[in-house]
Amino acid sequence: MVSSRKTLDALVVGAGPAGIGTALALSAIDDLVLGVVDRGEVGQTFLDWPDGQTFLTPSFTGNGFGATDLNAVHPRTSPAFSLGVDYPTGPQFAKYLRSVVKHFRVPVLSDTDVTAVEPTGDGFEVETSRGSVRAQAVVWAGGEFSDRPDARVAGISLADHSATAEAWQDRHGRVIVIGGYESGIDIACHHVERGALVTVVDRESPWDAGAGSDPSFRLAPRSRMRLNAAHATGRLTLTGAHASSIKRDDAEWIVSVDDGTKIRADSRPIAATGFGPGLGPVASLFARRPDGWPELDQDDQSTIAPGLFLSGPAIRHGGLKFCFVYKFRQRFAHVARVIGEAQGKDCGALEEWRTAGMLTDDLSCCGVECAC
Ligand SMILES: Cc1cc2nc3c(=O)[nH]c(=O)nc-3n(C[C@H](O)[C@H](O)[C@H](O)COP(=O)(O)OP(=O)(O)OC[C@H]3O[C@@H](n4cnc5c(N)ncnc54)[C@H](O)[C@@H]3O)c2cc1C
Repeated sequence: MVSSRKTLDALVVGAGPAGIGTALALSAIDDLVLGVVDRGEVGQTFLDWPDGQTFLTPSFTGNGFGATDLNAVHPRTSPAFSLGVDYPTGPQFAKYLRSVVKHFRVPVLSDTDVTAVEPTGDGFEVETSRGSVRAQAVVWAGGEFSDRPDARVAGISLADHSATAEAWQDRHGRVIVIGGYESGIDIACHHVERGALVTVVDRESPWDAGAGSDPSFRLAPRSRMRLNAAHATGRLTLTGAHASSIKRDDAEWIVSVDDGTKIRADSRPIAATGFGPGLGPVASLFARRPDGWPELDQDDQSTIAPGLFLSGPAIRHGGLKFCFVYKFRQRFAHVARVIGEAQGKDCGALEEWRTAGMLTDDLSCCGVECAC
């Protein structure tokens, strides 16, 4: 039960990589009373990934030489080591997370939906489907996967979002994908590989992004390789234009782009238009940046509800996006230390994260460009 009246030092909501990773850092702090809840199971989002989807960031066990596996959530773990694969599928990564939870005895309560979070002045009252709990600090790690804002395209309800199983089912003939960053290229290549004729439309032409080294703004090498292979089939067209509307015409779907061209498809268009911050019941406890993402202080804490932290891919600082595991994990130990020190606890054990290259507490060092 969550309804014990004892106050937790920290409650983590979400048992994906962000929640489990932050919980592991919090667990390293002596005497910190911690709870983790998830409305599903550990790694639920990865269990829900459509068949065919894999990681695009590779895993490799470089841990012993200070190059911690890019997809690891704890310095002494490696998905490549435990799974024996370099690009895990969703269920494989969920298995890795479960093994980490078991090994480090992270206190996770599954099937527990958080429905409300109320600041009380000296902490938070958290309502869940199993009762209420008090916590001095709350870390929101609810992920982005279930937050699929409608793209500004008239008739978007005629499209399948790329995160749905329907979008990954075999399609014949002409297929249209709206959105050409990672998820768009991923699903476009998937359908080309199965024989479809695919057109990708995106006004930003992300496949051309030449400037900058940050993988949040340019396609990963694996995606580029797949794109080249898809191109070589002659069945892939990339169009640098904005899709303005979708209409149905008998057996066809017609996507109009802003230069007046109409592109026809034999199945529902696929909207690879991204995800929102996924703040659920804490949405009103974060101020918003002009671009709509949550406003955070330098410690990833809400600027209007102190004690409420964000962990995961929705973290933004200036122009920096923390949308991959290897990026947002840099903040696990920092957030844990801010929470621990506010409660007068010894946080020395968190230096292990720094030694493993898994702690960035000075954000000015991020964003360096590669020379070649
Ligand atoms: C299709 C896709 C591919 C990606 N590929 C990569 C990749 O290759 N490499 C990479 O580094 N990153 C990748 N990412 C980005 C990122 O790593 C993932 O989004 C990752 O799942 C984020 O981890 P998370 O812990 O924040 O969220 P999640 O894994 O989504 O975990 C959030 C958890 O919170 C729970 N939850 C949500 N709301 C509540 C609530 N109200 N109460 C209780 N529990 C709740 C959910 O059940 C879920 O288990 C990808 C993302 C997507 C969508």
